[in-house]
Amino acid sequence: MTVKRVYTFGNGKAEGKSEMRNLLGGKGANLAEMNLIGVPVPPGFTITTEVCTEYNEVGRDATVDLLKKEVEDAIKNIEELTGTSFGSKENPLLVSVRSGARASMPGMMDTVLNLGLNDDSVIGIAKKSGNERFAWDSYRRFVQMYGDVVLGMKPTSKEEIDPFEEIMEEVKERKGVELDTDLDVNDLKELVTLFKKAVKEQTNRDFPESAWEQLWGSVMAVFDSWNNDRAILYRRMENIPDEWGTAVNVQAMVFGNMGENSATGVAFTRDAATGENAFNGEYLINAQGEDVVAGVRTPQQITKAGSLSWAKLQGISEEDRASMYPSLEEAMPEVYNQLNDVQEKLEGHYKDMQDLEFTVQDGKLWLLQTRNGKRTGAAMVKIAMDMHREGILDDKTALLRIEPNKLDELLHPVFDADAMKSAKVLAKGLPASPGAATGQVIFFADEATKYDNTILVRIETSPEDLEGMMSAQGILTARGGMTSHAAVVARGMGKCCVSGAGALKIDYKARTLTVDGKVFNEGDWISLNGSTGDVYEGKVETRKPELDEDFRSIMAFADKYTKMTVRTNADTPSDAQTAREFGAQGIGLCRTEHMFFEGERIKAVREMILSSDEKGRRDALAKLLPYQREDFEGILEAMEGYGVTIRLLDPPLHEFVPHTEEAQKDMAKEMGISLEEVKSKVADLSEFNPMLGHRGCRLGNTYPEITEMQARAIIEAALNLKAKGVVTKPEIMVPLIGTVQELKLQKEIIDNVAKSVFEERGETVEYMVGTMIEIPRAALTANEVAEVAEFFSFGTNDLTQMTFGYSRDDANKFLPIYIEKGILKTDPFQVLDQVGVGQLVRMGTEKGRSTNPELKVGICGEHGGEPSSVEFCNSVGMNYVSCSPFRVPIARVAAAQANLR
Ligand code: PEP
Ligand code: MG
Repeated sequence: MTVKRVYTFGNGKAEGKSEMRNLLGGKGANLAEMNLIGVPVPPGFTITTEVCTEYNEVGRDATVDLLKKEVEDAIKNIEELTGTSFGSKENPLLVSVRSGARASMPGMMDTVLNLGLNDDSVIGIAKKSGNERFAWDSYRRFVQMYGDVVLGMKPTSKEEIDPFEEIMEEVKERKGVELDTDLDVNDLKELVTLFKKAVKEQTNRDFPESAWEQLWGSVMAVFDSWNNDRAILYRRMENIPDEWGTAVNVQAMVFGNMGENSATGVAFTRDAATGENAFNGEYLINAQGEDVVAGVRTPQQITKAGSLSWAKLQGISEEDRASMYPSLEEAMPEVYNQLNDVQEKLEGHYKDMQDLEFTVQDGKLWLLQTRNGKRTGAAMVKIAMDMHREGILDDKTALLRIEPNKLDELLHPVFDADAMKSAKVLAKGLPASPGAATGQVIFFADEATKYDNTILVRIETSPEDLEGMMSAQGILTARGGMTSHAAVVARGMGKCCVSGAGALKIDYKARTLTVDGKVFNEGDWISLNGSTGDVYEGKVETRKPELDEDFRSIMAFADKYTKMTVRTNADTPSDAQTAREFGAQGIGLCRTEHMFFEGERIKAVREMILSSDEKGRRDALAKLLPYQREDFEGILEAMEGYGVTIRLLDPPLHEFVPHTEEAQKDMAKEMGISLEEVKSKVADLSEFNPMLGHRGCRLGNTYPEITEMQARAIIEAALNLKAKGVVTKPEIMVPLIGTVQELKLQKEIIDNVAKSVFEERGETVEYMVGTMIEIPRAALTANEVAEVAEFFSFGTNDLTQMTFGYSRDDANKFLPIYIEKGILKTDPFQVLDQVGVGQLVRMGTEKGRSTNPELKVGICGEHGGEPSSVEFCNSVGMNYVSCSPFRVPIARVAAAQANLR
């Protein structure tokens, strides 16, 4: 059977449907589906994502050969449906060529509009439309877009200027006009000539007059754009595989720039920033698609309600609003009603918030795209729960609508109400993406890491700025609306953004931001409230956010459908408390060494390290004992009723001694010994590979008195709490074992200590002894280890380090390059390597349970809060995952989703 590479749609029929998004891309699948449900869509066709992969293998000419027949037939189909003819002089068919991957990648790849125009057909279009200016304006846009996208004339660095923009500025200056719309037909004709001359000069080729040549050039350019830098970066950010490829959508053009009865816009069925169930969006009369998002003209609101609140935010009087910026609802009531019906239909059909693109050509509405809209974390939760209340989604589907990582946004600080009272508002813009941000002003995206906290200030942003937007704390733009690039991308990233703050005067050259005569330089502090659109002078204090009822409902669903529980990694009672508030059920890792640094303790720790014999060490440890007991009481009490895994001392001892001469002098003085003695001990402790050296249970096995002290502190703490009526479940964990014998010896010590303490006190408590599995050998011999251990906790930080042989402290020197080169897809210290390290985790769990069916298994490496790793842990059959307090809600949702999928 021959492979079908092209799928047509139009006039209520379609060869594709929404379920075919892997093959047709999101846009192509939905264009087909919209036809099938009776939404007006200009006819066209989709070239499949598989062809993109073929193209990357066989190249341009072979791909044209593979596609030729099907594309010719598909163009014929459009010609028949529109009564036009591709390449004709009198009655030309013009098309758009757009990308469309499986996952939406807004603005990352290329688009060509008005394709099919040439020196002949422009005359045909002028006659047909009765609007010569429109025809020539479309033509000059086409030459510019084709030159930039297909012929590679788009500037590659921020210093270069787009050659077409430069010509345009020259012509406007010569004519003494400011706006593109002030140019007349003759100016536009001149622009076309000048543009084509620039093409010839820069590419050594004539601008292609043949519609077919234009089409093939554009299709291949869209395929090429799958591999442009910003698309690659976006894929990396969103974890989209490189193999997916993009589809290409070719569609009959409809024109929003055909005059005052035409328009183009973008709309959302609900509010993408807050989640409120309010249809909203922006449009421009007499404009083409890109004008709305480019932020060049001020877009108008679609609904009257939206327009009224927009005007209020912008400080525009009702008189000006109604005359200069009326809503679509007021300006084109019939079209508005149709659009409103369509949006209801689409949301009802897809059962999710939709993001639509539409064009009105001479009073007729056409839909160009619909997709599930990007939204903030807050909107995600509200929309899921609103739709649940509306009876559209059941518990499970509402829960599956949550992207776990996006919950992070809800857990971050907001401005402190008291600090807000004295904060000085500098300017007002649109509340494009909620949250609070405070940072130092920078003007260029590639300088976003110049300070620890930065606010990227731009006239408007473009897809090139993506990386900088990601690094900055917040984004502020002078132009552009709620659907501008900055706004859409910021919402997708969950980054605070204020857009369209018109009072800002930005001078990139001087690197200044001026508001009402007040000048801010690069490095000055400002603050943004992305929920209100306010821009503040200086730093404004932030505080903990409040979690609402919807958030709690989602968490309740998560608890209802999960198999694994979620614990936290916490070393202090306050962290344990925070995690408990986020729903942690126990502590999966308490790193006791963190307690050694506080206050007076470090002195005793150093005394122990410096002691040359066991007696000296025991004396020092005796001083540490009360501190440790107190620490453990605090943490066990904070987690009352839940298991608390306390790990014995793990890091190499050299981490506890000072390394600068200054600090060594202080230490010598404090301990009453000579500087030389300190220096010689520090030198003694130094190791070539400390992470593979004298650490973990190797400490407890060479200095059993350390284990004795810690075990005693834990057991005594539990007994003290028991006396107060507090129920505790201590779990003592031995780190870094590679052989069962290492664990056996440590367990003996712990059990002996517990026995003595019970005898001393005449009272007992229950406790467990288990181990971390973080050395490959421990996983390989897990059946032996589990005969001694009551629980396993996978330390996937060390396990990753030792399986890959990458030092976790030095890997950043090469990991980014490895990821860039595709050697690794993701950082294995962040996302568990299921293929390699995962085998050890699975094997360790299975072998462990083979000899000890009751074995409790969890994970406490960083991966315990990363959704794809959590899903893997569920598949392995772990009892729990453990992560940092702020990731607990994320892990809870990820764990439940893993169980539902
Ligand atoms: C681990 O190795 O995964 C772990 C949790 O221990 P640490 O990070 O303290 O080495
Ligand atoms: Mg470790």
